[in-house]
Amino acid sequence: MSTVHIPNLIGGEEVAGDGLERYNPADPAELVAVAPASGTEAVGAAVTAAAAAQPAWAALPAPARGAILLDAAEILRGRHEEAARDLVREEGKTLPEARGEVRRAIDVLRFFGSEGWRLGGQVLPSSLPDTMVHTRREPLGVAGLITPWNFPIAIPAWKMAPALISGNTVVLKPAELTPLSTRHLTQALVRAGLPAGVLNVVHGTGAVVGEALVCDPRVAAVSFTGSTTVGMRIERTVQERRGRVQVEMGGKNALVVLDDADVEQAARIAVAGGFGLTGQACTASSRVICTPGVHDDFVAALIKEAARFRPGDGLADGTLMGPVVSKQQLATVTAAIERARSEGATFAAGGEAPEELMLAPTVLTGLDRGSAAAREEIFGPVVTVLQAADLEEAIDLVNDSRYGLAAGLCTRNLAAAQRFAAGVRVGVVKVNRPTTGLDLNVPFGGVGDSSSNTFREQGAVAVDF
Ligand code: NAP
Repeated sequence: MSTVHIPNLIGGEEVAGDGLERYNPADPAELVAVAPASGTEAVGAAVTAAAAAQPAWAALPAPARGAILLDAAEILRGRHEEAARDLVREEGKTLPEARGEVRRAIDVLRFFGSEGWRLGGQVLPSSLPDTMVHTRREPLGVAGLITPWNFPIAIPAWKMAPALISGNTVVLKPAELTPLSTRHLTQALVRAGLPAGVLNVVHGTGAVVGEALVCDPRVAAVSFTGSTTVGMRIERTVQERRGRVQVEMGGKNALVVLDDADVEQAARIAVAGGFGLTGQACTASSRVICTPGVHDDFVAALIKEAARFRPGDGLADGTLMGPVVSKQQLATVTAAIERARSEGATFAAGGEAPEELMLAPTVLTGLDRGSAAAREEIFGPVVTVLQAADLEEAIDLVNDSRYGLAAGLCTRNLAAAQRFAAGVRVGVVKVNRPTTGLDLNVPFGGVGDSSSNTFREQGAVAVDF
């Protein structure tokens, strides 16, 4: 396959550049994409263009803005397979996972495009006679959006579509590792007729481009998805200059398996949440907490299921798990595995040195709640199995975390499910479903160091008895 050269997009103009090179994680000889390693001046120019375009974009009736998003959805639908295959080559997902991600982005564009017809304020009663009070939703201005590599089409869509439909203009800084995937989305929006300057894309490193975007006082709102370390810094910086900021960050999500659970089903749920997407999902099930009566049977079933997730090229038929995204990420994950080994973990699965970026699914047992593998986000195909005496101790263990993104429960007992949903401090609760995955119309966000969202509404309780 030939290498794609990806330009910046500033004020409707494509500006070529190089400096960032992205190789296929399943085939390190294949140079997939080259993108500009932009400097701060490109960010300044993009913000200038976005600020200039914003009043006219906001003046366009919301249904007209929505029509462009709906057209972009159709354009992306026409390129669905090409985008999915590029996503596999660039990020390393399996083809079914990549197709799912592109479909998600299309649905996001459709959902928010249709919002153009509904985007209204409220009519409120007044204490004065013959007076009508109504509210209007106002755009914030220029939105600076910073996105990670693990969903390089769906997450930028999820940030751009609501910003654009509400009359904001956008400067997007995509993840360094996945410029081509994000380009499929931004090209669809441009081809759908987005006016020049409404969407600007600046490629480059987080330290240079991301930092400049966060610090620019003309950027009214910053929305970031990525690691907690970076997100918390961004949150502080934007708050200090009194901008609006939303940060979606890491997780250490637990799946609790109770004695009464269907063990085979629980193991299938655990591997889907723990090894699907190579464990590189913010909502990945990286901890499983078992009650004593089910622990041994569950671990045996988990080992059997994990064996199906032998890593391979995501384009090959039957591959259930792709490679780790990069050498740097592999180093982080293997360091966590070695730390677990030094803490006395038993390797129920995995533990061998990987070939290139192909890391085998790893199941750790015999660790306690204080171990690093039980507490820290690993962001790779590693599942740590812990034990709790009963449901209450399991809830306590779920909550014994700085994070609070998602949690799951496997049980046949509805009362236990209700108690669990009420007792855990997380954004999303699943019952008899993997912790990963959520419908796009459901509130998503976490508590603690997972998110800046202050709402406490749980995302979903999916129950399947
Ligand atoms: P990351 O290293 O924090 O990077 C995320 C984005 O921020 C990238 O575009 C990155 O640029 C940029 N960035 C890095 N340093 C920056 C700085 N100083 N200023 C401004 N921007 C900066 O995270 P990642 O490794 O890409 O993604 C994995 C993390 O994302 C995991 O922790 C995962 O849990 C989290 N995540 C959370 C959610 C959620 O919704 N809660 C969803 C997906 C992922 P570069 O690409 O150049 O590094």
